[in-house]
Amino acid sequence: MRVYVSCDMEGTAGVCSWRQCDPENRDEYPIYRRYMSREVSAAIEGARSAGAREFVVNDAHWSMRNLLWDEMPADVRIVSGAPKPRSMAQGLVGGFDAVFLTGYHAKSGDRDGVLAHTFSDETVYRVSVNGIECSEALLVAALAGSQGVPVMLVTGDSTIVRETLHALPWATGVAVKESIGFYAANTLTPTAAQDAIRDGARRATERIADAKPFVFSPPIELLLETVHVASADFIELMPGFERIDGRTLRFAASSYEQSYDAYVAAVRLGGAGNALA
Ligand SMILES: [Zn+2]
Repeated sequence: MRVYVSCDMEGTAGVCSWRQCDPENRDEYPIYRRYMSREVSAAIEGARSAGAREFVVNDAHWSMRNLLWDEMPADVRIVSGAPKPRSMAQGLVGGFDAVFLTGYHAKSGDRDGVLAHTFSDETVYRVSVNGIECSEALLVAALAGSQGVPVMLVTGDSTIVRETLHALPWATGVAVKESIGFYAANTLTPTAAQDAIRDGARRATERIADAKPFVFSPPIELLLETVHVASADFIELMPGFERIDGRTLRFAASSYEQSYDAYVAAVRLGGAGNALA
């Protein structure tokens, strides 16, 4: 059994500030990247105890160079570094049996979400596909689904776990903290979270027979609302994007993969378009 792990950081137990997730921060980030790494490692241990044998781990946060090598099992492959064309889903192609999402967080605009955002808090105000508002988890789950691969585990704050299990009821969720506000949480300790994730990954792997790929049926309509008008000015230049209003763009596609790739490109271009100010 082959497992693809996409690991983010804001949904790690204990995390409630950008500073803890910012690779430039020399005080708190080194501590929290270790906890992020240990949560990934715990998920792998749990899956292994239920029979999974092969793992590809995509480091999916910020610089995408967060995972500490000495915290990783020796026999896994790590997708490291940024930018990567498929970002949080780089390397997620056919041939996997399950996807795990660890350290995931609530989507942009969620009320009860610690550090809630969707790919970029400076660029993305809201994104929806075929009328369904998407989190990073759902965007990645649909890319996995387009390859026939189901998401079986999601870990992070209680809001993203609840939202993801609503769309993917066959998956197992491990909530490591509850939001008190955007910058505050009631959280498990890192050790307790790692134990819960290990156990959740084992249960998720045992439920593989229940799994279904999550798919958006074509034709696909992606609506992207940017934070800044300046971002939309540049995204509009890409063929296929239609400007709806100051901050809203529409992208129609015949496959979800096309719309996912267009979205990743739009987030990058939109960020560059606004960075000039
Ligand atoms: Zn994220």
